[in-house]
Amino acid sequence: MRALRKVLLGSAKFGDGEEFLQFKYSFALAMLWITLPLLLLFIAGDLSGANRVGLHGYTIRAYFLLCCALVLMIRNRPDRLVMGVWVFALASLGVHLSGFLFVPEDESRLVWFYSLIAGTYILLGRRAGAAIAVASIATVAVANGHLAVPVSARGMGTFYASVVSLSVIFHVFTSRSVSFHQAMVSSQARLRHLSDHDPLTGALNARSFTRQCEQLMQLARREGSAFALLFIDLDHFKSVNDQHGHDAGDAVLRAVADALRNRLRRTDLLGRIGGEEFVVFLPGADAGNAMTVAEALRLDIQSLRIGTAAGVTLVITASIGVSADTAEGLSLQALQRQADQAMYQAKAGGRNRVSSLAIQVERR
Ligand code: GH3
Ligand code: MG
Ligand code: MG
Repeated sequence: MRALRKVLLGSAKFGDGEEFLQFKYSFALAMLWITLPLLLLFIAGDLSGANRVGLHGYTIRAYFLLCCALVLMIRNRPDRLVMGVWVFALASLGVHLSGFLFVPEDESRLVWFYSLIAGTYILLGRRAGAAIAVASIATVAVANGHLAVPVSARGMGTFYASVVSLSVIFHVFTSRSVSFHQAMVSSQARLRHLSDHDPLTGALNARSFTRQCEQLMQLARREGSAFALLFIDLDHFKSVNDQHGHDAGDAVLRAVADALRNRLRRTDLLGRIGGEEFVVFLPGADAGNAMTVAEALRLDIQSLRIGTAAGVTLVITASIGVSADTAEGLSLQALQRQADQAMYQAKAGGRNRVSSLAIQVERR
């Protein structure tokens, strides 16, 4: 089943939030694949004489070749979907008109327009659906005037009324399904954000930080670029909670995370991996750059003035450990261990300072 699906629909990849495009892509290919054997049947009927359709036979043969080309054009190429479906819709309009003009003995031939209009609404949206519906009514009305035995006024009236009601139904269906899809995409994005971020500070949680870090490390190693890690632990944070309450502690954590974000680049990663422990991944930074960034972050944290609900202004400091990639290529765990050890070295050195296992920077 999966192999057949792959043959029919190809193996185009769709990202998060592209579910609607994926649905339309599969739907368009399904419509084309259903059309092809149906056309073969008509062609066989025409050739064998079981169902002679006169000049319409040539239109159907050309339409069959066009549908084959459209399958090749769209399969694995979702970027060509809109163009391909427009060609499909306009060609279908032409084929149905050809049937209307050249096969007058088939009283049911106007029914083909319904699947065209419904398919256009679903695949190309409301405006395109309405345009094809109007074009169907207009061209059938003109063509009817050229038939030797035209469809009766009552028959045409039924056709117009049914096209209008079909259009209204699909107009509503399309707008509902688009807004339903948008609501799903935004709730998925919200869920993803919740599962990747710490709700208090908005920093990445440990799992997501690790995953993203490993991706960036792989990329950096492929490109031969440097990277570094900072381990930031707030000093005497427990006493903030003990003296001013947990809410004041939370306010400090939020203020520190904001300060870190303000200083860091958009391409850096900020994670919260413990109560008052943050980690920062710095792509492109060597040990020297990382020490500079860490020192700037330390000063930013030190200069924060955080007001509490009780009207007290809190000041906080942090000890920061730095580790950087080496020629041997450290694992993320090893890098984190080194930054952690360097952070303990900074604590032991008197807190509110930046340290790497090699260098310790004196407090200013
Ligand atoms: P040190 O300078 O040695 O790092 O001392 P410290 O007090 O910062 O370290 P310790 O590990 O003893 O205390 C960390 C505190 O962080 C203990 C815990 O109550 C607090 N904490 C952990 N998570 C949260 C949180 O989400 N909100 C608040 N307000 N406090 C938290
Ligand atoms: Mg700690
Ligand atoms: Mg601490």
